[in-house]
Amino acid sequence: MKVSPFVLRLSSLAAATALAACSPEQTSLTSPADPALAAAPQAAVARGPEFVPGEVIVRFRPGASSASRGEIMRLANAQVGEKIVTAAMRGRGDSEGITVLRTSMNVPDAIASLKAHADVEYAEPNWVYTTDATSNDTYYTNNSLWGMAAGNGSGAVTAWTNNKQNCGAVYIGIIDEGYMYTHPDLAANAAKNPIEAAGRAGVDDDGNGLVDDIYGWDFAGNNSTVFDGVGDDHGTHVAGTIGGVGANGTGVAGVCWSVKLMNAKFLGSTGGTTANAVKAVDYFTNLKTRQGLNIAATSNSWGGGGFSQALADAITRANTAGILFVAAAGNSTLDCNISACYPANYPQDNVISVASITSTGGISSFSNFGATTIDIGAPGSGIWSTVPVSSKGKVAAGYASYNGTSMATPHVSGAVAMYKAANPLATAAQIKAAILNAATPTASLSGKTLTGGRLNVAGF
Ligand code: CA
Repeated sequence: MKVSPFVLRLSSLAAATALAACSPEQTSLTSPADPALAAAPQAAVARGPEFVPGEVIVRFRPGASSASRGEIMRLANAQVGEKIVTAAMRGRGDSEGITVLRTSMNVPDAIASLKAHADVEYAEPNWVYTTDATSNDTYYTNNSLWGMAAGNGSGAVTAWTNNKQNCGAVYIGIIDEGYMYTHPDLAANAAKNPIEAAGRAGVDDDGNGLVDDIYGWDFAGNNSTVFDGVGDDHGTHVAGTIGGVGANGTGVAGVCWSVKLMNAKFLGSTGGTTANAVKAVDYFTNLKTRQGLNIAATSNSWGGGGFSQALADAITRANTAGILFVAAAGNSTLDCNISACYPANYPQDNVISVASITSTGGISSFSNFGATTIDIGAPGSGIWSTVPVSSKGKVAAGYASYNGTSMATPHVSGAVAMYKAANPLATAAQIKAAILNAATPTASLSGKTLTGGRLNVAGF
């Protein structure tokens, strides 16, 4: 099952087709994604890999003996690829974490074998999250930020005139591709991990297991370089909508003009995986719980694949840390009440799922929806924001217009920051309630989202 950033591009039809296969029978978070998995091998042949071939994510029962673990590995003809115990897991007293197994069996068979063993809490595919990035435009046009305007936009313009544009004490974690933190419309808001920024090069100063994670971490490349060039356009576009620098006389303005942006890159040129998504979510959870960074939300403009207990557990850890998980509904014109859309459908209280609307207030033709599973609509069609571009053989700062629930999501992430900045003591639940309660009733979203409305940051 294909998972991709929810930006609608030339190849979007293929992505939509792939996502249409999304676990139709999946209704319970505690049951494994068997229907999805059963359908997956065929889909994988038709549409490219949807989970990493030869890999299974397993959680052993803590305390399982080494003999039992060895027996389990033999059952699946597997070896340990990577044992993942994030700082956020360790912080909650979990030293078992999850293990990526490499198996010579086909993945569905391996999972079936593993799940039969009493010392396996769960076994699931390492879903693949891919990008199909290409811009549809690279021309900056003034007066085109309809998503910030009143009318069918987010109402950010009105909030700005009410002096709510500054969100400088609030962090938003961008879980996506990398982002161009040197872009002139982003640089002032590019936050640094304080301890690493003040620390020594080549040393894991903050003890999170990652050396020199100053602007965040690249979990796709497993290095500290979160920006890797023009391929990080999607992440950069998302960043500009959350926190493009306002009133600097250039380019665009984000919902919050001075929010602190940090990045957990996990979507690389060949996509991302469940294993790396877990690390990315946990990265921010740990920064908040260990360093006290005021992280209000992560912005998640990606999705697909089937249910993952490992990712659900990571979202729960974020919830416990008071971090909202803002998630794109997806671009497949699917009813997520019928065909579960992940991560939008995860039922944790901290998830806010976002559909896309157009400048005339209609639901975007591509947008997924769900009367109880998708919370709110936000501007996602014809959204101008920051991107890296190639100019004379070098990477330069540019602007482009993209469509997608990928673009709607960061409007809501920016709204979270705005609310948190104005209400520093607000809990995640209170922030979510404020945003959903302020939604402007919108005909196109009636019966298609929980609120039946669109984002209105001027309303809270
Ligand atoms: Ca570190």
